[in-house]
Amino acid sequence: MNRVVLLGGGYVTLHVYATLARRTAAQLRSGELEIVVVSADTAHRFHGFTGELVAGMIGRDRVATPLAEAMPLARIIEGRAVSIDAARQTVSYRRGDADQVETLGYDHLVVGTGAREPVADVAGLAEHGHALRGPDEIAALADHLATVPGTPVVVAGGGIAGVELAAAIADRGHPVTLVHSGDRIVPEWADQPRLVARAAAELDRLGVRVWTGVRLTEVTPAAALLSDGSSLATATVVATTGQRPVQIPGLDPWRDERGRLLTQPTLAVRYGVWAAGDGARVEHPVTGAPVPANALWAMKGGDHVGRAIARRLSGRSARRFTYRGLGRAASFGFGRGISELYGVPFTGAIAWMLRLGFFLRFMPSPARAAGVVADLSRFAFTPRRRVSATAPEPTSGAALTPA
Ligand SMILES: Cc1cc2nc3c(=O)[nH]c(=O)nc-3n(C[C@H](O)[C@H](O)[C@H](O)COP(=O)(O)OP(=O)(O)OC[C@H]3O[C@@H](n4cnc5c(N)ncnc54)[C@H](O)[C@@H]3O)c2cc1C
Repeated sequence: MNRVVLLGGGYVTLHVYATLARRTAAQLRSGELEIVVVSADTAHRFHGFTGELVAGMIGRDRVATPLAEAMPLARIIEGRAVSIDAARQTVSYRRGDADQVETLGYDHLVVGTGAREPVADVAGLAEHGHALRGPDEIAALADHLATVPGTPVVVAGGGIAGVELAAAIADRGHPVTLVHSGDRIVPEWADQPRLVARAAAELDRLGVRVWTGVRLTEVTPAAALLSDGSSLATATVVATTGQRPVQIPGLDPWRDERGRLLTQPTLAVRYGVWAAGDGARVEHPVTGAPVPANALWAMKGGDHVGRAIARRLSGRSARRFTYRGLGRAASFGFGRGISELYGVPFTGAIAWMLRLGFFLRFMPSPARAAGVVADLSRFAFTPRRRVSATAPEPTSGAALTPA
């Protein structure tokens, strides 16, 4: 029997599974092949609609698909991988909070454990702040916001995730300050200055105060402390600051300086080990630059690895990853967005519709995608009172620079 082990329950894993299961359905049913998923989370989280969830436009159950439902032919183990022995082809993991370590052999291993915010780098963040990439953390943030309506919020990190989140929180009536260490927000969209300008204008419309050139250094129960010595009074700090690949010991010689697993053009890391998504460095087939860390590339990388493993299982060699990209999109409230499709920029309602269409198409569960449409329709026809909120001034420290 062959065993394929998939680590993580994110986009990479779901897409490896779907592609591989389609090509090996007979072997899976006959028991010649087993797919085992080891994931710290029992559900797949669709991050694309984070803004809609936080803004209260859609229900939390719409974006969480149980892994057992999404991958019915796989054996799912709720556990955290703790080490990989690539020479012996084994992976060790702990179930839940158990101390005991269990070990599983594999013929093929796919590392799809993604990345986390570097929470430990900011004092007090783990205890008093919020991150987004852990199991149910986004829903926990939405629940928390519901208990502190209208109170000031600090969002740290001015990448697209932070900007969307700041807009969504402001849209539900909180005064929001967005703190960004660089000199320009959304640096990953720098090649689309018109869209970055539109994002800044949307934040302005929603009353979000944007501070650039400062870092979040500490979080206390009542304040966010910044690198210039100033502080902002708040009980809600959300970190979207960068992302650090989850590093499972055992593959260290195959990592780059940022901790990403180095992949070959086939997306193999070494014999029997494959990687894609936020935890991997995948080179663009044309430019050779690392592909962006977003859901589209994680899904397409996962599809490719699924095909590559199916080929290897049938004695053929794996092909090169040739996907070239499609675009990206962000939303700033109902009917307002920015998007780029094959290099062509769109703004406003068209951009928002494009984004909605693509995201619904890429959701792992058609029933939940239909639920998103139902929730958004209900939201559109429910009258809302717009709350205008102004973010508080920092209490001390050097003058901050608006973006
Ligand atoms: C708030 C937010 C909004 C975003 N919005 C967008 C967007 O609009 N568009 C877009 O394209 N991208 C967006 N992204 C980025 C996108 O979510 C990621 O690029 C994508 O999730 C990467 O997929 P992945 O499979 O590599 O990792 P993930 O989807 O993060 O999955 C990693 C999985 O591994 C599990 N795991 C972690 N450590 C272990 C371990 N040791 N053992 C076992 N399991 C483990 C995790 O629980 C998780 O199930 C957003 C991200 C965030 C946080």
